Amino acid sequence: MKNNSLPKAYDFKNTEKRLYSWWEKSGFFQPSNDPKAPDFDPTKKPFVISIPPPNITGSLHLGHAMFVSLEDLMIRYHRMVGEPTLWVPGSDHAGIATQLQIEKSLAKEGKRREDIGREAFIKRTWAWREEYGGIITEQIRRLGASCDWTRERFTLDEGLSRAVREAFVTLFEKGLIYRGPRLVNWSPNLRTAVSDLEVEYSQEPGTLYFFKYRLAEDPEQYLPVATTRPETILGDTAVAVHPEDKRYKQFIGKKVLVPITDREIPIIADEYVDREFGGGALKVTPAHDPHDYEIAQRHHLELINILNRDVTINSNGGVYEGLDRLECRKKLWADMKEAGLVIKEEDYTLNVPRSQRGGEIIEPMISEQWFVKIKPIAEPALNAVRDGIIKIVPEHFNKVYYNWMENIRDWCISRQLWWGHRIPVWYCDDCHEMTVKREDPTECQHCGSKNIHQDEDVLDTWFSSGLWPFSTLGWPDQTLDLKYFYPTSVMETGYDILFFWVARMVMSGLEFTGVAPFHTIYLHGLIRDEHGQKMSKTKGNVIDPLIVMDEFGTDALRFTLLVGSTPGKDMNLSVKKVQANRNFANKIWNAGRFVISAIEKAPDKPQADPQWTPADEYIHARMRETVRDVNRLFTSYQFGEAGRQIYEFFWGEFADWYIESAKLQLIQGGDRAFYTAWTLMRVLDRCLRLLHPFTPYVTEELWGHLKTIANSKGNAYEAEDGWSEALIIAKWPSSKAEEEWEKDAISTFIAGTIEHTRAFRSLKTDLNIPANQKTSGTIIAEKGTLPMILAQKDFIAALGAIKDMEILDVIPDVEEYQNYSSNSIPSTGSIVFLKTDEVFSQQEMRDKLAKELKTTQSQINRLEGLLASDFSTKAPPQVVEKERSKLDIYKQTARKIKDQLDALH
Ligand SMILES: [Zn+2]
Repeated sequence: MKNNSLPKAYDFKNTEKRLYSWWEKSGFFQPSNDPKAPDFDPTKKPFVISIPPPNITGSLHLGHAMFVSLEDLMIRYHRMVGEPTLWVPGSDHAGIATQLQIEKSLAKEGKRREDIGREAFIKRTWAWREEYGGIITEQIRRLGASCDWTRERFTLDEGLSRAVREAFVTLFEKGLIYRGPRLVNWSPNLRTAVSDLEVEYSQEPGTLYFFKYRLAEDPEQYLPVATTRPETILGDTAVAVHPEDKRYKQFIGKKVLVPITDREIPIIADEYVDREFGGGALKVTPAHDPHDYEIAQRHHLELINILNRDVTINSNGGVYEGLDRLECRKKLWADMKEAGLVIKEEDYTLNVPRSQRGGEIIEPMISEQWFVKIKPIAEPALNAVRDGIIKIVPEHFNKVYYNWMENIRDWCISRQLWWGHRIPVWYCDDCHEMTVKREDPTECQHCGSKNIHQDEDVLDTWFSSGLWPFSTLGWPDQTLDLKYFYPTSVMETGYDILFFWVARMVMSGLEFTGVAPFHTIYLHGLIRDEHGQKMSKTKGNVIDPLIVMDEFGTDALRFTLLVGSTPGKDMNLSVKKVQANRNFANKIWNAGRFVISAIEKAPDKPQADPQWTPADEYIHARMRETVRDVNRLFTSYQFGEAGRQIYEFFWGEFADWYIESAKLQLIQGGDRAFYTAWTLMRVLDRCLRLLHPFTPYVTEELWGHLKTIANSKGNAYEAEDGWSEALIIAKWPSSKAEEEWEKDAISTFIAGTIEHTRAFRSLKTDLNIPANQKTSGTIIAEKGTLPMILAQKDFIAALGAIKDMEILDVIPDVEEYQNYSSNSIPSTGSIVFLKTDEVFSQQEMRDKLAKELKTTQSQINRLEGLLASDFSTKAPPQVVEKERSKLDIYKQTARKIKDQLDALH
């Protein structure tokens, strides 16, 4: 291969798609050890992740990009380590979200779902899914996700539906599923119950209505009661007072009349009552308020539901039947006013429950729902984390998990939707018993009647996604996949769905399979904008990953997300960061082009054993150290830090120092050129392997070129772990124990080439001399360091752009050096000199320094003034400290300039 076939710039647009389909077609995404293959080895331990299934209604957002990047990183790493690796992809039918889409499209035709009927509605939803449901998985592919697409699943596919049925029936048979009247969060728009987690509370201005609850025995006497929702008066079944409230003690046990309807209800005593609120007496509406519901449980009160499913008033509302609850509120209050039952109205701040999805006001309402008795299932799930069977990364989420699991309430699993797993319960119209079966029954199992009908509701989406880690592998059948790949290894997801999803998988896994579904839960944080603000459409600060990938490439986005992430912590993201990492991808490419061309020109093989230069030894030692660091960080899930270390090594050490030194060595030809090209090849190969899980595309593309050129030279250019078919399946660099020579090699090159070059460079910067302008220089070395510096003289001269370099070990006559500017190196005690009269005349130099001194002096004056003012007592100490240290630096600079000026006179 000729180097000119390698394009000058990295062209991600022409690379990403091609590589992805090559990887997929070559079967690299499938586990290397497959239970269905004849050479299957059951003793090899696999590494398995189930993807958090995105909603089929979804369009790629940064949350997806984050979990795909992290999981793909883990998968690629374990694949390279040599473990049989499986990443199971799939998508979620997303009951509410999908149904809303279809209802919206129906609304455009002026229809509701009831108008077309259940069957047609479901058919239409499947058609929608066929057309649009694959968009999100296509977008996930673009991120480079190396999932095994031959094992892709969908929560409503046949196998998963069977798993759901099995789970429901098993729980039902164990007595862990029951049906009952329960207070649920009712969404009027969706006409379904939604979970507590899907309700958000907002502070809004409202009204507190005061009115009279008249005594039945003496309507002249009354208890003053306050409410924010007068319509619920129609469902009141008691008035409660505090047992120690002297004002009302004598009324306990008596009856009061419900306004307008004159229904008699009891006055009860309950410690829940807040004596300070309203008049101190509390109306109790157990069918429409969670606290009242609990009071009703304690006192065995009647439950009166006053709402229909569309939140109009039902027949329990008497004359108000048919009104919307808000209209009823107005009408009833007006009627009460007329009847003299109203005391007053006051402005009041309400805590309004609103739907997280649609924003409408949620009505607490009693309805018949299906529930899972959660305590017996939660207990083992709690213990699994307590006993360390499941580890949460980061660990501080353990506490949050314990707290939630200890206070968990029964799980309402029925939803009044059509899109989802229909509840497998049939009611008999003759004997009114229930039939719950794994297969659809044709008759009642109690009386044999054929007059049976299935429950109308479907199951909460999380019921099916809770089974995800094992249902996707074939459960309830004991498939080969299930036996080998289950339990899975890591569950990686955002901390915001720890309870929605992760906790439910732990409970279901333990309940149905007897083992924890994974050994580690890795939680990532949310992505915020560059100022730490939550991204939202209304704020207009949303970053679209698809646009970012179009502009900067997938690797740049992935690297930014991965390097910016710390487990469990939110991260701030800006497009600028992605742009900077696009530059990193280009840096990798350019370094690669240099290495490839160096190998091309270098001899095919050496004539003798290697004579390593300080630069060679340094880069080999630092490479070994970096491999050890990255491996250590990977095993402790510190992927972001690992990425930062590789970045620093690649850019700050390999590209900036070694490649620059190598240029000098290559022109010497012969064995020096061979061993230099060989070193470049070895280090680049290691780096590409370490970077592959972060930036899969640019590394694979470059590695392919590196392999081709290395192979074209015969076998002297062998990679440390061999050249495999592709980087994606190449061997991960393993850590090698530190050897004695490494520390010396690193410190020698740093103290020699790096520090002396830097000293010359900073001197040039101070004097405004262009870095590449050749200037005469001298190093005065401390006695002991002379041989070390002499050995690296050429590197320092080349990298520092110094000509006629002298190296001395005696302090010279100062007079002789009056035309030099100097800089000292604390670690070696050396002083470097730059002959400035070559560059500037004495007068120019004096002017330059005088001007610099003036600016510095004005900064000193400003800071001294500031620190003498109120500022030093009023500003936070760390701020004052910062200004003080700035002052010190300016003072040092001023002294240095004065010394230089003195030397000129
Ligand atoms: Zn029957």
